[in-house]
Amino acid sequence: MTEVFEPFKTEPYSDFSKPDPLKAYQEALRQVRSELGRDYPLLIGGEKIATGKWIESYNPCQHSELVGRAAKASKELLEPVMTAAWQSYASWSKLPMEHRARTLIKLAAIMRRRKFELAAWQTLEAGKNYAEAEADVAEAIDFVAYYARQSLKLAQPIESYDYPGEENTSFLKPIGVGVIIPPWNFPLAILTGMTIGPVVVGNTVIIKPASDTPVIAAKFMECVAEAGFPVGVINYFPGSGSEVGDPLVDHPQTRFINFTGSLEVGLRINERAAKLQSGQVWLKKAYMELGGKDALIVDETVDLDYAADMAVISGFGFQGQKCSAMSRLIVVDEVYDALLEKFIAKVEALDIGPAEDNARVNAVISQGAQTRILDYIAKGKREARLVTGGEAGSDSGFYIKPTVFADVPEDAVIAREEIFGPVVAVLRAKDFADALRIANDTVYGLTGGLISNDRGRIERVRQEFEVGNLYINRKITGALVGVQPFGGYKLSGSNAKAGGPDYLRLFVEMKTVTEKF
Ligand code: NAD
Repeated sequence: MTEVFEPFKTEPYSDFSKPDPLKAYQEALRQVRSELGRDYPLLIGGEKIATGKWIESYNPCQHSELVGRAAKASKELLEPVMTAAWQSYASWSKLPMEHRARTLIKLAAIMRRRKFELAAWQTLEAGKNYAEAEADVAEAIDFVAYYARQSLKLAQPIESYDYPGEENTSFLKPIGVGVIIPPWNFPLAILTGMTIGPVVVGNTVIIKPASDTPVIAAKFMECVAEAGFPVGVINYFPGSGSEVGDPLVDHPQTRFINFTGSLEVGLRINERAAKLQSGQVWLKKAYMELGGKDALIVDETVDLDYAADMAVISGFGFQGQKCSAMSRLIVVDEVYDALLEKFIAKVEALDIGPAEDNARVNAVISQGAQTRILDYIAKGKREARLVTGGEAGSDSGFYIKPTVFADVPEDAVIAREEIFGPVVAVLRAKDFADALRIANDTVYGLTGGLISNDRGRIERVRQEFEVGNLYINRKITGALVGVQPFGGYKLSGSNAKAGGPDYLRLFVEMKTVTEKF
């Protein structure tokens, strides 16, 4: 295949300890700040619709500050949005793959030009410090750039054996209109990847963004419009789960659902999607990328300072609000006390403050999240030994002090349920084999890690650690598009492997034509 585009490479990251990127980021923050409080209408087939009802989005680090308001979709708009998406499908699905891929290349270029601005929106709407916000935008761009290239591979002829007297051809076709339901925690990256993957291969979509981050989603829509996607290919439809989420999932004309979020909501959607509705003429495809209870194992063969550093980054990056975040640190008995001491010291050295000031630890996303996390902390205090944190921080935002529980029993709630906040449970294992047993004793299987210098153990976890993404001797977060395809095992989801070579195949079906001469 001749390469149409230059080879894919992941977006570089800035070094914010240098004056130039720091200045540029702060300038972007100033610009974004001057645009706070605006209204963002729905976008249905290119038509802007203000419904009169609004989802208000506030800065988690300064919760009195309105970031913007997104129009809230109502049930009456379900048919119009479905119709608009199917209408645009009729022409978008028939375009040559290269035409659509070029539109993506254009989109990536636009997002690259607006990189710091898009990141600054996340700093203010999602509470991400500069590096976390930039990494999210970089990942979004990577998804677009990577899927553009991957799509061309799907347009290649599919090999089959000859059969005498016949011509046999197989080719891939898009499937229809999909509903995209992303989480708030990677409000640009995951939304972009889940949308652009299906779209590049010819499908059209309705995005129902997460209610905590609808403004970033609206900024994505601005980039989409500028890139020249035909109207109706990507529709912007914020709204509540019960009022429009369930009906979109149930709709007989929904062909597929691409969901990333919690186990609880994912199970609900999966079940509803499986039910045949009146007038429905296909099985809905439903991809569910769900939560985690991710563990990092540290054994006695390693530099404990390094291990503690990796644990801190894995556990407390973006306040532990990553599906890949380390929420269980499993340490073998021989080095348990020494590692714990180093880990606590490093956690206590983290500064807490507004994302805008680029503090290491920022507020959690919402009041609801703060309350839920504090409830888990209260449970933890009854189940285990609190060694640091354990309470809310400053009242100006939804802060929670980085929290560590030690000597956590295996069956403790904080060792089993996803907390999704800056709370780490430290568990003592008798030895490495026991540590691996504990790590696997969970319904989840998203990420995991081992810090060890023992080749035999490393080879063993490669096969036996039951996770979709395993990291050895490094942090367990930060999967890169095209480098580490991402998606879990067990109840962590359908293993769609976002950013991987098979992802786009999920949104097409194969047709085989046989002609006898
Ligand atoms: P969530 O399940 O609460 O919400 C996810 C999305 O579903 C949101 O857009 C929400 O508005 C929508 N929703 C809620 N009820 C709905 C309904 N009845 N019908 C349709 N849509 C509905 O999750 P969250 O709090 O946004 O995100 C955090 C969760 O996502 C964590 O569990 C995290 O582990 C998980 N996550 C997983 C991955 C992964 O790749 N596996 C990546 C990021 C986040």
